[in-house]
Amino acid sequence: MADDEIDCDRALIELYEFLDGELTIERRERIELHLHGCQHCFASYDFEQELRFVVRSRLQMEVPPSLIERITRLLEHEARYIDQPGQG
Ligand SMILES: [Zn+2]
Repeated sequence: MADDEIDCDRALIELYEFLDGELTIERRERIELHLHGCQHCFASYDFEQELRFVVRSRLQMEVPPSLIERITRLLEHEARYIDQPGQG
């Protein structure tokens, strides 16, 4: 029975794989079991999840340089158009 249990070091190593979705269902369940009974590992899990969420949302916000260039050109064009003295 104790064979199924993993210690904190092992749990944290597998935690990274768990977050990357590289674990088998069996190993996932084993880690989840450990997380439920271990405050220390659960806190780490929480933090890792948060971190990944922040990184992912930041990546989504990153704009390709070509798009920035296009927007800049559009704005310059617009500015020039507005700067023109009104005719008529
Ligand atoms: Zn633990």
